[in-house]
Order: sequence, then structure tokens, then C-alpha cells
Amino acid sequence: MKIAVVGAAGRMGRELVKAIHATEGATLAGAVEQKGSIAVGQDVGLLSGLGKLGVIITDQALETFAKVDAVLDFTVPAASVEFAGLAANARIVHVCGTTGMSPADQAAMKAAARHATIIQAGNMSLGVNLLTALTKKIAAALPDFDIEIVEMHHRMKVDAPSGTALMLGAAAAEGRGVVLNEVSARGRDGHTGARKSGDIGFAALRGGSVVGDHTVIFAAEGERIEITHKADDRALFARGAVKAALWGHGKKPGLYSMMDVLGI
Ligand code: NAD
Repeated sequence: MKIAVVGAAGRMGRELVKAIHATEGATLAGAVEQKGSIAVGQDVGLLSGLGKLGVIITDQALETFAKVDAVLDFTVPAASVEFAGLAANARIVHVCGTTGMSPADQAAMKAAARHATIIQAGNMSLGVNLLTALTKKIAAALPDFDIEIVEMHHRMKVDAPSGTALMLGAAAAEGRGVVLNEVSARGRDGHTGARKSGDIGFAALRGGSVVGDHTVIFAAEGERIEITHKADDRALFARGAVKAALWGHGKKPGLYSMMDVLGI
């Protein structure tokens, strides 16, 4: 399967290149960066520490999409929405791990999925997807427990709460049969008053080089359940993305999640 990486010079982009290179049945067939990036014109293998691969980073997404079966995209929301449209025109698989999408961005992704096979997830690791399924179950089983979601990431992360925290929050809300936006409590500060029953709280910590820690806390009178996932290495997400691309090959167009890929 011929796969291209968009945002190839980014933290995740470089991991994706390595993951494709290490996967049997996957061939790195293109690498794209944004116009003006100093990475354009460079061999993507050199940038990823693999040595020369003969795949040169280009800023021509359209041309690249025409010659591959799938693209792996961990970039920024505006770019991902554009890439989803290009993937729809090219009728290829679009694996999108970009977080921080607005409702309008999400609607555009859904529209593109009429023609593209899009696999989108705020977290591509097996562990976190299992944590998500557990969160939904516990939230349903313990309707009176307060739910708080705490995440920590490296100091360069630009969006908060993380896509994974929101994914966990959505799962908890689904378990309770409510809509996350109507119960989500973010960034408490000052005289906030008592906690509203039924709220799902979020706290985002930033610092150092933390790849991604997430804890879901279920708290009641006198007892507390905490479930935690800690990612030590971005390679984890990259391997998940390649797995998603291979899974999506030949699937009919639609918007899929990592839960579909992993059969959870
Ligand atoms: P990064 O800033 O290191 O990399 C993003 C790359 O995208 C940059 O190289 C940038 O130049 C490139 N880019 C931006 N606009 C572009 C465009 N129009 N065309 C081509 N390239 C473009 O960021 P990162 O840490 O690699 O994270 C990227 C995204 O992936 C973030 O949204 C992050 O939250 C998300 N992420 C998701 C998962 C997951 O499992 N779903 C895991 C880790 C990170």
C-alpha cells in the first residue's frame, strides 16, 4: 500500500515516516509540508533519522494525493480539513490524528467522508481506545459519581483540553446518555461555587516533554476510582495510524474511528 505523510517534518510526521518504513506491506510514497517550510526539498528519510530514502518533501499536496492509496495526517485543523477534501477527490484513505477541530471543521470532515475513507481519532493507541471504552462503561454503571479528566502534555502543545481528553469526556457523556457540551466544565478559576452535579470536568497541565498522560477520575462520597494511561513514545500513535491505513484500504467511504480499526 502506497502511503504519504503530510506534515512530514513535524514531531508526529517524522514518527509516521519511521512507522511506514518499518511496516511490511506499506511503502512510503510521498511527503508533504506546508509552503515556505524549510523542510521542502529535503529527503524525508534524513529528517527522520533513517538515512536517504529518495522521498523528497514537497509542498504539492494535490500531486502527491494522486499517486498514493492513503495519507497520514497529524497537522493542524485547517490543513486537515483541506486534506480531507483532497482525499475525497482522489478517493483515497485519509488517516487523521489532528486535534483541536472546531464543530465547523468536524462538519467538513464528515462531508468529505462521503467520498473518502476517513479514519479519525484524537488518539491512535490501543491502550487509550480501551480506556475510552472502559470510561463509557464505568460512567454508565456509576451514574452518581463525579467525573473529572486530567491530562498532561509537553510544553509545545497548542490545544487544550487534549483531543484524547475530549474523546474520554465524550465517552463518559455517552455512557450517561448526555451531550458533552452541555455538561463540560473547563478551567475552573476563582469563586466558582460548588461543583454542579452531572458535570464532566477537565484540567489540562502543560510542561516538559510529556508525550501524553490521561487520568479519568470517578469520585463519590468516601471512594474514588482512577484509571490512567501514560504514553512514553510517539511511535505508539504512529504505529496505530499505519495500522488504520492498512485497515482502511478497500473499505467503503465513511468516517471511521480507531475503535472500528481495533474492533473495540
Ligand atoms: P507539529 O507542530 O510538530 O507538526 C505539525 C506539522 O504539520 C508541522 O511540521 C507543520 O509544518 C505541518 N503543517 C501545518 N500546516 C500544514 C499544511 N497546510 N500542509 C502541510 N503541512 C502542514 O505537531 P505534532 O506534535 O506532530 O502534532 C500534530 C497534531 O497531531 C496535533 O493536533 C496533535 O495534537 C496531534 N496528535 C494526535 C495524536 C493521535 O494519536 N491522534 C498523537 C499525537 C499528536
